[in-house]
Amino acid sequence: MRLGIISDIHGNAVALQEVLIALEDAGVDEIICLGDVVGYGPHPGLCSEIVRGSCSLVIAGNHDRALGDIEVQGWFNPVADSALEWTRERLDDEDLEWLLALPSEVPHAEGPLCCHGAPGAPDDYVLTARDARDALLASACGIILCGHTHRPMACDINGRRQCTWLHWCDGDVVPLEKGHRYLFNPGSVGQPRDNDSRAAYMVIDLARQEASLHRIRYEVGATQRAMRSAGLPEELAKRLATGV
Ligand code: ZN
Repeated sequence: MRLGIISDIHGNAVALQEVLIALEDAGVDEIICLGDVVGYGPHPGLCSEIVRGSCSLVIAGNHDRALGDIEVQGWFNPVADSALEWTRERLDDEDLEWLLALPSEVPHAEGPLCCHGAPGAPDDYVLTARDARDALLASACGIILCGHTHRPMACDINGRRQCTWLHWCDGDVVPLEKGHRYLFNPGSVGQPRDNDSRAAYMVIDLARQEASLHRIRYEVGATQRAMRSAGLPEELAKRLATGV
């Protein structure tokens, strides 16, 4: 069984389509999405439709939840807030209902715990090794998968509760060792924030017991043009070119 893991698509269908082609080439059996299908980007309806048709499990991100929860939206900065208003107006009832019904945390049948932010705290950011350690110690799962930060991350914890930050760049393969537990973030498909503009995703190969991170180029200019003609905030279009 090979699982493709994607997160934080943010309405960027150009990046999403490139990633899905790559995952098909990688021969994955299932694709899991860790949330934020929409928000920021110019293709919310198309991304909702594609994710609904391609993923076996989809978790709610804070931008997805904010569509129906004014309290969540209240935490957004003005740019995220105006993009969310734009997004809400463009989603049809079917897409909106689907996004609002997404679960916030689900253990996948093959074991990994899938969430958006941190387990039990969907709006929290797992950014440091200490955050990862706290999340791993609060759970009994062998693998925790989370998104939300838009930065790829891999940490493991051994039986002595020592947490290690693992090298996790394009092409890196992490062997899943017995007696260890792991937290992975696949990075963002549609709005990376780790100074790399390429879309990010990961693959877990359960037969080989290994996880790998991948980056892929997409036509950033096509998404930027769509954002500008939609009148979305310019800084959202600009940041895609640098991945900040
Ligand atoms: Zn996000």
